[in-house]
Amino acid sequence: MPEVPFEEQNLSSLLEIAGHSFKARLLACSLWEFFDRKLVCRRPSVDIDHPNSFHIEIEKFLRSKNVGDLQLHLVIRRNRRQETGLVHELLHLNLIPLGFPTFRIWADDDETWNLAGGIINNAEHVPMLRTFISFGYPESEFLGPSGPYSVRELDTFDDIAGLSSRLIEPASYALAVGSYLAKRSIRHEIVWIAKTVAPR
Ligand SMILES: [Zn+2]
Repeated sequence: MPEVPFEEQNLSSLLEIAGHSFKARLLACSLWEFFDRKLVCRRPSVDIDHPNSFHIEIEKFLRSKNVGDLQLHLVIRRNRRQETGLVHELLHLNLIPLGFPTFRIWADDDETWNLAGGIINNAEHVPMLRTFISFGYPESEFLGPSGPYSVRELDTFDDIAGLSSRLIEPASYALAVGSYLAKRSIRHEIVWIAKTVAPR
């Protein structure tokens, strides 16, 4: 039997986790295609209750402008919440084709780095949550267990919640998150990934 190419293996993993949900399967397939089939999905068998994650490495993409150079990695734990966990991470990635920007951060210490990550993560959750609920999932399944958070982080999350109405549309999202990062003295650069992609 011919060996299944790496790209197809990733698609199979995504579809296996998406289960019978038509919308989750469609989201997985369309993102896999959008990212030029270079969407890597890892499913570690250890630490199954650790948080899921996604990672985008944009440096190579910024040089080539090829969407296949975005180097996207998902880590989805094999637990009870795996389907909604996958959809959650995919909705982070789906902000790219929807035209939302990403932020490059420069930080000298871990605390600032983590704070910036927390700000961006929470800001992204605002436009994602509507789609998640439209898929028919309960809001209580949107987030997995996370934390513990410092008082400073919790204050920040409250601030982000206060910005919600400005986070639904890409241009005002970029302005709101960019000014908030600046207010917290976090050095950053806005990258409009969808606008940077070279035509195929
Ligand atoms: Zn998230």
